[in-house]
Amino acid sequence: MNCPFCQAEDTKVMDSRLVNEVNQVRRRRICSTCNERFTTYETVELIMPRIIKRDQSRVSFEEDRLRNGMLRALEKRPVSTAAVDASVMAIIHKMRASGEKEITSDQIGEWVMDELRKLDDVAYVRFASVYRRFQDLESFKAEIEKMLRATESH
Ligand SMILES: [Zn+2]
Repeated sequence: MNCPFCQAEDTKVMDSRLVNEVNQVRRRRICSTCNERFTTYETVELIMPRIIKRDQSRVSFEEDRLRNGMLRALEKRPVSTAAVDASVMAIIHKMRASGEKEITSDQIGEWVMDELRKLDDVAYVRFASVYRRFQDLESFKAEIEKMLRATESH
């Protein structure tokens, strides 16, 4: 953090305090060169990226749509609602942690598949077969074999 008075690079933090209402950290700093004091504010920015669909259109992220897509794959499978919620939260966390303003629906699809693979093999294959739009039976078979190999190596 450069000093705003003399532009020196070496400034020291004298005091930090959380400004609760706005989720900001207020820091008092002092410049090691000119001894001027100044205040900085840091805000944690947790934006939810917008979604770039395959046709390049942009839409707002909707948690319900994500959850419903996963629940459709998990239909009649022995997976608890709490486990689904945890997976949804994990995906939302990845979206926020990316720091990106926009994220492709393909990337989210990959994250969903990672989560479903952990929850339930059948749900994973259901989702992957729709999502990856397997062109033919061969690529579908290859995916299942890949999955079986991964399961065996546990
Ligand atoms: Zn200075």
